[in-house]
Amino acid sequence: MIRDQQALDKLLEDTRRFVREVAIPNEDRVEAEDRVPDECVAAMREIGTFGWSIPEEFGGKGLTSEELALAFMELTQCSVAYRVVGAQNAGIGSETIIRDGTDEQKRTYLPKLATGEMLGCLALTEENAGSDATALETVAEDTGDGHYLINGTKRYITLAPVADLFAVFARTDGRQRGGSGISAFLIERGTPGLSTSGSTPKMGQEGAPIGEVYLEDCRVPASAVIGGQPGVGFATVMKCLNKQRINLAALSTGPAIRMLDDALAYTIERQQFGRPIAENQLIQAMLAECKVEIECARALILETARKRDRGEDVTMEVSMCKYYATEMCGRVADRVVQIFGGQGYVKGRGIERFYRDVRATRIYEGTSQIHLLNIAKNLYRQMG
Ligand SMILES: Cc1cc2nc3c(=O)[nH]c(=O)nc-3n(C[C@H](O)[C@H](O)[C@H](O)COP(=O)(O)OP(=O)(O)OC[C@H]3O[C@@H](n4cnc5c(N)ncnc54)[C@H](O)[C@@H]3O)c2cc1C
Repeated sequence: MIRDQQALDKLLEDTRRFVREVAIPNEDRVEAEDRVPDECVAAMREIGTFGWSIPEEFGGKGLTSEELALAFMELTQCSVAYRVVGAQNAGIGSETIIRDGTDEQKRTYLPKLATGEMLGCLALTEENAGSDATALETVAEDTGDGHYLINGTKRYITLAPVADLFAVFARTDGRQRGGSGISAFLIERGTPGLSTSGSTPKMGQEGAPIGEVYLEDCRVPASAVIGGQPGVGFATVMKCLNKQRINLAALSTGPAIRMLDDALAYTIERQQFGRPIAENQLIQAMLAECKVEIECARALILETARKRDRGEDVTMEVSMCKYYATEMCGRVADRVVQIFGGQGYVKGRGIERFYRDVRATRIYEGTSQIHLLNIAKNLYRQMG
């Protein structure tokens, strides 16, 4: 649903300008320094990326699902690190609070997340709880005096080394596993008992650190429980991820659009056998396959976003979006490396960086296999 076409057009144009004039010229620097430079962060603050999804009453732009998907497809036509740093707050960094937070939690945190004054992260995954998140072992013990004592370790948490606010999921029912009995807590950096690792070395996405979160007798008041209600944290994270699956699909379509643009330009520039490689029909076929798949992803994402905006149940569709768009992006990256030949494999053109950067999207926020299972489960459910 698009509420104000003119305002959206301006936002998309501002974002395009940021990508063209600020982000792309700094991509090699982001990789070399393994951080997004302050001036790039400032430029994203100016166009409001941090608060795109946060309601206007809390200082954000309050974009609908469809508007957000369109904005994300623009913002991600550059290295992945920019959107992680500049827009995690417009996704998993704030969504648990938007969905289920108390009025006080919303008033306290959303305005700071909307401006980027605070960086939010979502700490669910653990060593023994990945795809099966309900197996998490972090425990929050009710101390009987209006507080909880939290112990456990989270891993692979995006932005953990630099985040200010942690949505931490812990078991409050004393059981070993299961979704019920998991509670969600909002914990600020600086709270005694919460600490983080440095950046975990990884395949790509330089500038977008992931790391561990350590909770060692971390004492938090009961008011830190998201929504004030213990035991419903798993439902909260599922609601958050449900929305995020459309986001991540859009965030995977932007890089594919950029790679295709770069590939098209290269096929005209690069000459072999005395003519541009663009004249080879085998090259053209690869370009055409990329285009078809990008447009399929875009259509599926926007249709799903519109359905969500209309309040329809999109449980199956969001898995289809996440699965299709992330796999599509991987296929596009692979073809584009092929089109660039050796130039696609060596550093310098940014293509090998995209190839590494986008690989993670098929793993996080539900692996491709988990989404296929979810789609099948919903197919059977629809049979009644
Ligand atoms: C770059 C990056 C950033 C991340 N950021 C965050 C974050 O911000 N917050 C957070 O909480 N987590 C984060 N994660 C963790 C991520 O969500 C998990 O890695 C993911 O859920 C998969 O869990 P796992 O790594 O333990 O793999 P596993 O669950 O061990 O899966 C291993 C393999 O088994 C397959 N598999 C598992 N179960 C089944 C099944 N039932 N049927 C078929 N196949 C199955 C999987 O598909 C996969 O191929 C991040 C991960 C990465 C790599």
